Amino acid sequence: MKIQAVRGMQDLLPAQKKISRTIEDVVREVLAAYGYREIGLPQLEQTELFKRVVGENTDIVEKEMYTFDDRNGESLTLRPEGTAGCVRFAEQNGLLFNQVQRLWYSGAMFRYERPQKGRYRQFDQIGAECFGMPGPDVDAELLLMNARIWRKLGLDGDIRLELNSLGNPDARVKFKEKLAGYLQAYEQDLDEDSQRRLTSNPLRILDSKSSKTQEILRGAPVLSDFMDNESKQHFEGLRRLLDDNGIAYEVNPNIVRGLDYYNKTVFEWITTTLGSQGTVCGGGRYDGLVEQLGGKPSPGVGFAMGLDRLSLMLAEKMESSKDADVYVVSQGNAARATALRLAESIRDQLSGKKVVVHCGDGKFKSQMKKADASGADLALVLGEDEVAAGTVSIKSLREGGEQSTISQETLAQYCLDYFSKEN
Ligand code: ATP
Ligand code: MG
Repeated sequence: MKIQAVRGMQDLLPAQKKISRTIEDVVREVLAAYGYREIGLPQLEQTELFKRVVGENTDIVEKEMYTFDDRNGESLTLRPEGTAGCVRFAEQNGLLFNQVQRLWYSGAMFRYERPQKGRYRQFDQIGAECFGMPGPDVDAELLLMNARIWRKLGLDGDIRLELNSLGNPDARVKFKEKLAGYLQAYEQDLDEDSQRRLTSNPLRILDSKSSKTQEILRGAPVLSDFMDNESKQHFEGLRRLLDDNGIAYEVNPNIVRGLDYYNKTVFEWITTTLGSQGTVCGGGRYDGLVEQLGGKPSPGVGFAMGLDRLSLMLAEKMESSKDADVYVVSQGNAARATALRLAESIRDQLSGKKVVVHCGDGKFKSQMKKADASGADLALVLGEDEVAAGTVSIKSLREGGEQSTISQETLAQYCLDYFSKEN
């Protein structure tokens, strides 16, 4: 039997990798423009970190983590998300007390979920986390940054923002009790997951996908009735800042997020183009988390975006990309040697352009087919005649398809002129 990739772990073909690289480049540039600094985080952490941060009663900790004992018998977990590790990192490296931080990281996350389009067991996230800033201005900044990324990727038309406030922990506790009390009466009619959550994590019932449960929820108490004044002001402040900056959003009281650490602001960026895997980015505020992990209190807020889902969106948008700008075909040993040499001289002149040399034998006709398929603008042709005369034939693979023969010495300059005219 042949060995296959582990279920839910994706191979990225060159075309797919290229798209995710494009996204990463854009995100990197935008984050830098807002003064965010990149950090590197380990993929493995102590299991206890996630239990304490993400929460024992969340889906992630209950059933999605890749947890194992190492050879020393220590329980370790492949990170299912980045915020826990980032807070651990910031505290451990003394970045928090009396300081302001804007940090970001990228890399693989692992969750044992049912694999489907846009949902994998290993997936890539880029996350940003801010520390030491309690006001709604930095919440707004994160969202402005997100919006700029969508614009740069040309995806802004397909992604909308949904926003909610969870208030402070006291308000949540009070609301949780009232909500659970209300739902108790309908226990038998709730979907299976929600029945289980009734005792473990009733807030999560709010984002249940079951229409019957949603029907029941229509008469339920609402969190905003329990919200403390400070949280209300924070939320109003954020909404004003978003309005001032022309960021459209919808307040969705059912957004609670799947992790325990949030307070006040929570948000999701959602697309309708990916079916039920529609959340491409989510985040919010976690002011109590640092203290909960044993540090001196420091407010925090951040987001994580899913690169795999953004890649799926972008793939549909992008025209089929080309593998070459210049494709060199040749026949005979002498011509092939010249081809390699000339390709080198073009690469010296033209940075950023792809020069692909046809390696190995083949009829001119079949080589030219490959040149066409590569998407190149120019094909360079070298046969015995050209080698003897010190020339090279150039065929435009664009509309018109002109052909000319020039001396090999002037080739690099010719290509330089050709591509600079193009831009
Ligand atoms: P969902 O509701 O789709 O399960 P989530 O709330 O669990 O998402 P977060 O923990 O907030 O997701 O992670 C942030 C982002 O990471 C998501 O918006 C999504 O784009 C991406 N993501 C989460 N889980 C997966 C997965 N299993 N496969 C691919 N991307 C994922
Ligand atoms: Mg999930």
